[in-house]
Amino acid sequence: MSQAGQIFVLSGPPGAGKSTIAAKVREHMPDLAYSVSLTTRQPRPGEADGVDYHFVTREDFQKRIAAGEMAEYEEIFDNLYGTSEKIVRQALDQGQDLFLDTDVNGAEQLQKRFPDGVFIFLLPPSRKVLEQRLRGRATEEEAQVRQRLERVRYELTKAENYTHLVVNDDLDKAVFEVEAIITASRRRTQRHLKLLQEFQAS
Ligand code: ADP
Ligand code: 5GP
Repeated sequence: MSQAGQIFVLSGPPGAGKSTIAAKVREHMPDLAYSVSLTTRQPRPGEADGVDYHFVTREDFQKRIAAGEMAEYEEIFDNLYGTSEKIVRQALDQGQDLFLDTDVNGAEQLQKRFPDGVFIFLLPPSRKVLEQRLRGRATEEEAQVRQRLERVRYELTKAENYTHLVVNDDLDKAVFEVEAIITASRRRTQRHLKLLQEFQAS
């Protein structure tokens, strides 16, 4: 049987740069499967359905929860966000590594199920820079920006549970580090025992 795939989860406070970094990783590492989350929130300008998220109604999302179709989900900022069980199963069963962007509670649910997964926490260089980036993104109203800033403290209480920590100061450096963590994890000897056997038999 082929080696099962592994999961790579990226979390961090809103505005930390998860979407920006995930887009680069997606571009640079095309052999990595990417889980497009479901959400009940409205698309932001420039976001495309099926690419950034699957945008669904609350009713649709709740039906999927009831049918056991969600690998994990969370209510964040008055909206539901979650990962499809089918996407996780398909990727891992086919031996494909899967990259996910989830909040800290979603990551906690996945960590229980996949204790050998790689969990990367993205830390902004400071609270001040985080606030500047959130406001600079200009995708939320002031009340929503405040709501996101209030959540930072909570998200940080969970950071210690992650296997890796990356500071997103210089974007290229942060992307390099996330990709280096992924590359190193993918080269774990235990994942490549077949290569050793093949060499021995050659
Ligand atoms: P998240 O997905 O974690 O909420 P985003 O990827 O949307 O965060 O990033 C928030 C804002 O910060 C965006 O406008 C993005 O372009 C900007 N940004 C991300 N990383 C950096 C960086 N290293 N330096 C400067 N701006 C950044
Ligand atoms: P945003 O609305 O800024 O795109 O995302 C808000 C929050 O939802 C972020 O903390 C992001 O990590 C989280 N999120 C995005 N997709 C998922 C998901 O599939 N599951 C969970 N639990 N959180 C998610």
